[in-house]
Amino acid sequence: MPAREADYLEGLNAEQREAVETTDGALLVLAGAGTGKTRVLTTRLAHILNQRKAWASQTLTVTFTNKAAREMRERAEKLIGDESQSLSWLGTFHSVSSKILRRHAELVGLENSFTIIDTDDQLRLLKQIIEAENIDTKRWTPRFMAGLIDSWKNRAILPDRVPAGEGHEFANGRGIEIYKTYQARLAVLNACDFGDLLLHCISIFQNNPDVLAEYHARFKYILVDEYQDTNVAQYLWLRLLAQGTGNICCVGDDDQSIYGWRGAEVDNILRFEKDFPGAKTIRLERNYRSTARILACASHLIKANQDRLGKTLHTTDEDGDLVKVRGLWDGEAEARLIGEDIESWRASGRMYAECAVMVRASWQMRLFEERFIMLGIPYKVIGGPRFFERAEIRDAMAYLRLIRSENDDLAFERVVNQPKRGVGATSIQKIQIVAREMQRPLTVTAEIMLRGNEVSGKARSGIRAFLNDLERWRAQAREIEHPRIMEIILDESGYTAMLKADKTPQAQTRLENLKELVRAMGEFESLNAFMEHVELVMDASQGNESDDQVQILTLHGAKGLEWPQVFLPGWEEEVFPSKRSIDEGGVKALEEERRLAYVGITRARERCYISFVANRMIFGRWQSVMPSRFIDELPPEHVDAVSETGYNSAPAGGFSGVSRFDSDESFGGSTYESPGWKRAQAARNTTDGKSQYGNWPQKKRPPDINPSGRLVATSDP
Ligand code: ATP
Ligand code: MG
Repeated sequence: MPAREADYLEGLNAEQREAVETTDGALLVLAGAGTGKTRVLTTRLAHILNQRKAWASQTLTVTFTNKAAREMRERAEKLIGDESQSLSWLGTFHSVSSKILRRHAELVGLENSFTIIDTDDQLRLLKQIIEAENIDTKRWTPRFMAGLIDSWKNRAILPDRVPAGEGHEFANGRGIEIYKTYQARLAVLNACDFGDLLLHCISIFQNNPDVLAEYHARFKYILVDEYQDTNVAQYLWLRLLAQGTGNICCVGDDDQSIYGWRGAEVDNILRFEKDFPGAKTIRLERNYRSTARILACASHLIKANQDRLGKTLHTTDEDGDLVKVRGLWDGEAEARLIGEDIESWRASGRMYAECAVMVRASWQMRLFEERFIMLGIPYKVIGGPRFFERAEIRDAMAYLRLIRSENDDLAFERVVNQPKRGVGATSIQKIQIVAREMQRPLTVTAEIMLRGNEVSGKARSGIRAFLNDLERWRAQAREIEHPRIMEIILDESGYTAMLKADKTPQAQTRLENLKELVRAMGEFESLNAFMEHVELVMDASQGNESDDQVQILTLHGAKGLEWPQVFLPGWEEEVFPSKRSIDEGGVKALEEERRLAYVGITRARERCYISFVANRMIFGRWQSVMPSRFIDELPPEHVDAVSETGYNSAPAGGFSGVSRFDSDESFGGSTYESPGWKRAQAARNTTDGKSQYGNWPQKKRPPDINPSGRLVATSDP
């Protein structure tokens, strides 16, 4: 046994070792990125088992994502071998809760065969309830109500405990009533939503001391990763369980709290020491992940946040390369440069899989995907489908396909009831049967059936409207610029309205992706050229599965992970920090964006490249954009700034000195100087938020396809 013990404890520094060996009591490990928090947690788990302090099944380990849980299990397996198989209580808050709930469902009025409903089901159910109350669902949307319910559930608030003054924003104060009905309906359906998984457990623990005692006896040790992102409900859940043995260890970093919009509360860190008297706090200060310069940039940047507990971080690693900050003309130039960097990295014998591109919002991914496809760089989008495979993009493409050809039955099926037109599955089936008999396309069959009065009711008017729309758009497509046609379709079909009514962050993302689609269309001469391009890209992006792939992901999805070479593109005002965080005006949202920037930089081990562009095409028009304020918050001595835009990021006075953003002739020759973003902001304000340069003539690029249909690299302008 000692041999094994020496194995895993070896190499830990004194503080890490203390955190591993302080197995009993409450322990908070509060430490910056890359200091080995996750490593400590895994080693601690191994240590507890190795010391025979508990069996694997007597430990509870909670991680933030399923991916993190899998990795934790793998790491544990390396340390302790087969015993890791018995870590039956290692998972996310949701997965562990659902397991507990299955055992005691009857205590909250459910059968243990209960179903867990997803967001779609949740919305459908809420819609029924709101309609039954004779409330206008256009004005008071199910999405909005779902958001309210989530915000209550995140704080563990049941319908009869909603604080006075909340819920009034829905249907003149009927929000709480709807919440109540919703919970009652779920009970009848023997179902619960994600929030309920935790809430039901909390109720069970609170109302059934014997059950709670059973879990107290079972869970001898509780371990929690990414503690800074727990919400109030998760905290209560943990606290109830930890009241047993009191052996709980949470690791986290307040500077990496990036889920405030989902109800995460950094206050949970402060509460910890109060709620667990005698709790010990250990700070880890040595970063093992990044070079000194990368770490210096991250630390300097995060200092601009007021609201933090404060930490020191150092590394004994070498200085490493300067963090590169690069200003480029536009998004394509940015993607081109990053593509070149990755190719030369690969040419030097390194792996693609050692590189990651992290973006603020998923619409930013497309340019990189296309560039990588063109260069033959294998890549993988983590945490979501690739751009052209996203549901909203496929929907939009289905409309275009129907414009191009009325024979496209698959496209018809996809969007005839998207957005909802009252055309149910039975109506569609009916049309399909007739179409097969007549051997005609669905659009044509539907038209014939309408004329013959073979479809009735809601479906009839829905299909009528749909066919009329298609015909009108087809005619317009012959005359109007194709990006505009896409906008018209999205507006007139009600697709945009559907997403706008939807107040979730996902809907916002979808709207942004659709804007990006319109933007992409502007790069092609014709609708056909664009569609051909997409079809080829879709084809090229199939297969090609290998382990050695560049990873493209959002900053939110990058939590806890690391890569030797990291690219952080799109550091522009209103992209990052996001427009929404700026519009909100307060410091809170901006500080969360800054923490996200901190998460981004601290993912890098050897090299970190930050970039921004001077021009982004937004809605088919070029707009000049300002470099992100975060760029000015980097320490000049650790940065190598190069700019092709005329924005000299690091003049004599460094970043806080005077930055020039002067334009060339084609921009009208206007020149102005600004000390970082503040002056830039001021300059922008004087023009009422309009682009400094007025209308930049729309640039048409040749499609990236030659007449033979082969993908070719675009030549540099
Ligand atoms: P984050 O805040 O990003 O989640 P973290 O604090 O959880 O980071 P880890 O992922 O556990 O940090 O560790 C960062 C890197 O440092 C990993 O590659 C890990 O293996 C390495 N590391 C941690 N501690 C040591 C150590 N004592 N000796 C060598 N390498 C270490
Ligand atoms: Mg970690």
